[in-house]
Amino acid sequence: MTALADDRAARTFLGHPRGLFVLFFAETWERFSYYGMRAILVFYLTKHFLFGEDKAYLLYGAYTSLVYITPVIGGALADRWLGARRAVLFGGALIAIGHLTIALVEGPRGAQGGFLQGFYLALAFIVVGTGFLKANVSTIVGQLYPRDDIRRDPAYSIFYMGINVGGAVGPIVVGLLGELWGWGWGFGAAGVGMLAGLVNFVLFQPALGAAGLPPSPQALRARGSIGLSTETTIYAAAIGGVVLIYALIQYQDLVGWLLVAFAAATVAFVLWRAVATLERDARNRILAALFLCALNPLFWGLNEQGGSSLNVFTDQRVDRHLFGFEVPASQFQSLNSIFIIVFAPAFAALWTWLGRRRLEPSTPAKFGIGLALTGLSFLVLVWGAASGNALTPAIYIVLLNLVMTWGELALSPVGLSAMTRLSTLNMAGLMMGVWFLSTAAGEYLAGLIASLTGGAGTGADQILTVYGRIGWLGIAAGAAVVALSPFVRRLMHLDTIGRDDVAHGLDGERTLAEPQAPGYPIAGERPA
Ligand code: GLN
Repeated sequence: MTALADDRAARTFLGHPRGLFVLFFAETWERFSYYGMRAILVFYLTKHFLFGEDKAYLLYGAYTSLVYITPVIGGALADRWLGARRAVLFGGALIAIGHLTIALVEGPRGAQGGFLQGFYLALAFIVVGTGFLKANVSTIVGQLYPRDDIRRDPAYSIFYMGINVGGAVGPIVVGLLGELWGWGWGFGAAGVGMLAGLVNFVLFQPALGAAGLPPSPQALRARGSIGLSTETTIYAAAIGGVVLIYALIQYQDLVGWLLVAFAAATVAFVLWRAVATLERDARNRILAALFLCALNPLFWGLNEQGGSSLNVFTDQRVDRHLFGFEVPASQFQSLNSIFIIVFAPAFAALWTWLGRRRLEPSTPAKFGIGLALTGLSFLVLVWGAASGNALTPAIYIVLLNLVMTWGELALSPVGLSAMTRLSTLNMAGLMMGVWFLSTAAGEYLAGLIASLTGGAGTGADQILTVYGRIGWLGIAAGAAVVALSPFVRRLMHLDTIGRDDVAHGLDGERTLAEPQAPGYPIAGERPA
């Protein structure tokens, strides 16, 4: 690193390295494009391509699952060769190409043929691009901090705010442009947003210091038997991957099976690497990380009812009148992101405050609390709906979102932080990919739960019965996780964390963050 880059990387803002805010805005724009596009995707399929609703939902499910399956591959490639930063740049470029392609190949209403093929190809660009970007941008955040720095969980809470600024603004901007002005304007705005994120990342990346650099620049430049460098080979293979996803996304039934097979193979690979290459403490930490990932399908299965069954419930069973207007159901979708933006700083401050007093709950205990709060949020709605009115007052949807958001803040940013802290540096991207893969299983489970609620045609009772059950299930699972948390925490070996990375063969330019800056106490989680 040059002295200048060194200097930039050392500067802080609000007590955090400046690089955190570079990643914050890069992720804001990427999520702006992702959630913005997702908000109009089903409408585009049903109103522009004139798909039936069932076919549209299937494609939507396949797309949102694939988007979270591919980060495992992008993460592993970054660990081994690319480094997270190059992966983010390449992924961002593919994502922008994808959104802009959708905008440009719109075609006349109802025309499928080549226009539809172009659209599938564009989705494949976004899927592969997200595979390169999503896990890796999240990994770099962790690399800005020593592993035992108490600012890590707060940093991920702040980063999570960036995600949700994009999640809140994207649907509003892309949704309004797409639905009112023309689809192409909406998708085009998503593409331009991603480009803005890339420009921001390129301009300000010196603030990242050494975080996310390739592990070995020589290995990246080395030429293989066909004369291409490793780096070029990876990019060429990624384009091959786009063609593969383009074919796959047209067979949505296969995606569920792919998810199961891919998840099993990935867990086997991680276990093999942990057993074959790591000594006991580091290996146990990977097991602890896998335990946390195993809670994701249930958590996201509940949390992701928001866009499906809860949306339908809000539309049909909730009194949405406010000052004489009827608020459209879709507007309630932004509540989750808005509450995250409002409460993320409070959670960040809470963890720091508790950490300084050695009272911070352990990571697995936070997961238990997160699960229980998510379960409780459904019971809030069930109790509200039982208040005797024919239509449930809208305040209960607001309260549900409030409690659910608290649960999300106790689990999701904490989980991102844990993935980087519990992995060795050369497995960090892979483990972040496993994290997102387990959320893909959550998306899938969410679809199954939504179908149990009976969908649009069923009475409220069916939905409320299912909500009551998943509510209590969440609370019971959360309590069990809190009870197990001391054992899982022991697997995390907090007494040796932050000292063992050097043993794992780091080479090249990449170094760990500097030892803890004076003035920051050691992490709140003390060894048992
Ligand atoms: N809403 C968060 C994001 O977009 C988490 C999504 C997930 O992990 N499935 O990053």
